Amino acid sequence: MSVGRVAVVGGSIAGCAAALAVARAGAGEVVVFERAAGGLQDRGIGLAVHDRRYAELEAAGYLDPGIPWVRLTSRPWIVRDGGSRAGRRLGALPFGFRSYNWGSLWSALRARIPASVAYERGTAVEQVLPGPGGAVLRLAGGREERFDLVIGADGYRSAVRAATRDATVPGYAGYLAWRGALPEEELPGLAGAWARDEAATVAFPGGHMIVYRIPGPGGSGTSANWVFYAAPADPAHALSVGDAAGLPPDRVPEALTAHHRAVVDAHFPPYWQELVRRTPKGATYVQPVYDLCVPRYGEGRLVLLGDAAAVARPHSGSGAVKALQDAAVLERCLASAGSPAEAVAAYDAARAPVGRAVVGLGRRLGRAQVQGTPAWEGMDQTALERWWKQASEGEGRFGGQALDGARRG
Ligand SMILES: Cc1cc2nc3c(=O)[nH]c(=O)nc-3n(C[C@H](O)[C@H](O)[C@H](O)COP(=O)(O)OP(=O)(O)OC[C@H]3O[C@@H](n4cnc5c(N)ncnc54)[C@H](O)[C@@H]3O)c2cc1C
Repeated sequence: MSVGRVAVVGGSIAGCAAALAVARAGAGEVVVFERAAGGLQDRGIGLAVHDRRYAELEAAGYLDPGIPWVRLTSRPWIVRDGGSRAGRRLGALPFGFRSYNWGSLWSALRARIPASVAYERGTAVEQVLPGPGGAVLRLAGGREERFDLVIGADGYRSAVRAATRDATVPGYAGYLAWRGALPEEELPGLAGAWARDEAATVAFPGGHMIVYRIPGPGGSGTSANWVFYAAPADPAHALSVGDAAGLPPDRVPEALTAHHRAVVDAHFPPYWQELVRRTPKGATYVQPVYDLCVPRYGEGRLVLLGDAAAVARPHSGSGAVKALQDAAVLERCLASAGSPAEAVAAYDAARAPVGRAVVGLGRRLGRAQVQGTPAWEGMDQTALERWWKQASEGEGRFGGQALDGARRG
């Protein structure tokens, strides 16, 4: 089967992976439309990919060992405790992940897209008009183009999703994520504060901060990538953020910066306070946490992928993995189906349950780690393991589902 002319809307992680997928599946022509005019490589910070999910995605040809990464194995949970500079460790949970610099991962995917694929930067899709056997894209400036298949890889505010029957919208989870990165050489000095393979987690009432090392930009050196989750002091402040991709540092409202600093001062052990304080304001972003899951990953000749289809809270550790898996499964479905309709149906059947499971896990972990935090101080290794088991139990696997859909791995 030839899928004919394919448009991919969005050229971030999901979009690059989708372009690779449809090109490999034998599409006649592939065009990627990316709204951002510049390269995306400088805008992201860090992300983590579960070891087993990495192995599957390497075998499927979406990731490769040449992309700079840092091995993580353990996640100590830390609380403030009297005079201890690094804090007191409650215990540690296994954390078998590879950490990446977002920009390097995106650049590697972008470089994998065959030269036959057109990647149009600075081109926003304003409207998607589905019709029999295809869809017309209305682009900024009034240009219109018809495609046989349109792939929505355009993130949480997807224009492609808006053209589907359900037009599902994201729901604000009630709290924010502050993100930052500090180059390794600027970390406060304290021998043994945290090992290179640790994803240290500072816990406090109403939230936590996870910190792990990532490769620096372009793979040079390492940086400490931190993400701090808490509700804003005034719920109205969250509305000023709005954009799930995150506010750039120069647009973060002062009230949110002040709240972040106040929580850190009140609850963090001195070493971790210092780590946050040393992070320049120019390297600190804020984003609201959202939940989103579409009932259908495909409809007619429209397909949704990555964050356009499902946004799971970052605690699930699966945002990039889910997007790459979506692409890998779409490739298989397109390559093996007898018609585009059959391929879209097979893709939907395979991926919609995965999206639901991961979003559900993100909600449960958000409740346990932010919205209904336990009395951390009284916990030890046994209590920590019990709490984690309860929080993560149910549908959805930490770090992402197995690529073949089985509940294993
Ligand atoms: C610049 C950027 C930085 C990020 N940084 C991090 C990070 O540091 N850590 C982390 O864990 N996750 C980060 N993310 C989120 C992460 O990439 C996603 O959660 C995950 O990888 C799935 O990505 P996605 O491609 O589905 O969605 P996204 O990464 O959100 O990409 C959507 C893309 O679609 C484009 N787009 C949207 N609407 C249109 C339109 N109408 N027409 C054309 N193009 C459109 C956007 O410009 C964007 O490039 C970042 C996302 C972006 C865009």
